[in-house]
Amino acid sequence: MVAAEASPFAKTGGLGDVLGALPAALARRGEDVAVVLPLYRTAKIGLHERILSNVPLTMGPHQLFASVDVQVHNDVRYYFVDCPRLYDRAGIYGEGGVDYPDNHIRFGLLNLSALAIARTVFPARIFHAHDWQAGLLAAYLRTNFAGDPTFFGSKCILTIHNLGYQGNFPRTALGDLGLDPVHLHTEGIEFYGQLSFLKAGIVWSDAITTVSPTYAREIQTPEFGYGMDGLLRARSNVLTGILNGVDYGEWNPETDPHIPARYSAEDFSGKQVSKLALLEEMGLPADAQLPLIGIVSRLVEQKGFDLVGPALAELIDEDFRMVVLGSGEWRFEEMFRTLAQSRPDRFAVRIGYDEKLSHGIEAGSDMFLMPSRYEPCGLSQIYSLRYGTVPIVRATGGLDDTVDDETGFKFQAYSPAALAEAIRAALKAWRDQDAWRLRMRRGMAKEHSWDDSAQEYQKIYRS
Ligand code: ADP
Repeated sequence: MVAAEASPFAKTGGLGDVLGALPAALARRGEDVAVVLPLYRTAKIGLHERILSNVPLTMGPHQLFASVDVQVHNDVRYYFVDCPRLYDRAGIYGEGGVDYPDNHIRFGLLNLSALAIARTVFPARIFHAHDWQAGLLAAYLRTNFAGDPTFFGSKCILTIHNLGYQGNFPRTALGDLGLDPVHLHTEGIEFYGQLSFLKAGIVWSDAITTVSPTYAREIQTPEFGYGMDGLLRARSNVLTGILNGVDYGEWNPETDPHIPARYSAEDFSGKQVSKLALLEEMGLPADAQLPLIGIVSRLVEQKGFDLVGPALAELIDEDFRMVVLGSGEWRFEEMFRTLAQSRPDRFAVRIGYDEKLSHGIEAGSDMFLMPSRYEPCGLSQIYSLRYGTVPIVRATGGLDDTVDDETGFKFQAYSPAALAEAIRAALKAWRDQDAWRLRMRRGMAKEHSWDDSAQEYQKIYRS
């Protein structure tokens, strides 16, 4: 597997979670799997071994040198590509909200490094590329290395975790990547006058997956296709949706070390303790009378935050509190900051990334809000189910596949009114605590294990 993130080494979202857990689930099912990712400065890499030193890698005009460190995590080998010139930086993708201008070189090299690793230390039959950062893997395999006997019979699978991130660069970037300009056409790597890493992956991979059945259908429509729906329709015979699993070792209220008190579906007292602790930590009045709505998210357009302000305006007379953890676009950070300043007894926000608090919010909230515009799979709502924190979600992608009317609240139209109505319905349902606890228990009983997902991936590997 090749990817830009893998928890616990590097994570900005769900991609990291998947690469931290799916490989181990496959290993438990008997697959021999390894992961290749960059050695970022921020990578929390522990005891490791250097297995390749200063391997020369030629990419177009660039002569680069990379070393490879290996660390075994959950019985899986994680290969870290150490190329300080490209990866020894403060950020993963960029700094201060600005992408690094040489990201095509950074992630181009990741793909060439993976092929070098497959050539020398881990002979791979199947390359499983994740998202645009690994999109060139199939392109290199089927073009530059098409005649290389090392890779005869190798297959390539691309998993799209989010079609909104495509890795598009100016056409001139092609020279940097060492790909032949003959591939710069609409059936190749060109995408509306630019070149696209993700498109290359879609064009040249043998199979394509995305992270929920509904999202697999949605991305074949103009509304969700981000310009690639036509191509995805053309490849629909090899496109499937496989839901992500959840690492219940990490996300389980019965064992979670990050939360103040543990609890189960039989005894909710620890959830009450967690709620009071959360209210106190966020500076809200520590009384549990009002329902508490939690949000943990990247604060970006995709997640539907442009609906939240207008919807809250409609709900101003309702009795509830809200805690928010996230970071992202300034306009959304500012909206939540302003809310918290104007109603400090009702709203609290923490801008930033905080693993412990994210668990605290899952445990301490009564409801969890995800009004996404689109959601390939979404993990937070699946965590919420397990924590007895009733999800309020827009019926799109993986949210639609994992939440039903028995376990949560869903709305269809992408509008503040529809969101407000869903929140209102949840607040109303909360008043009947017996029925509410039944709803919590139904959610907590849902199982989204990685073992099931791994089995689905194995079917594709076998095919
Ligand atoms: P996406 O991958 O689009 O960001 P997911 O719901 O699939 O959305 O995954 C989000 C993951 O990132 C969850 O594990 C969530 O807890 C975590 N996360 C998001 N924002 C934060 C934050 N500010 N602090 C801590 N964890 C966060």
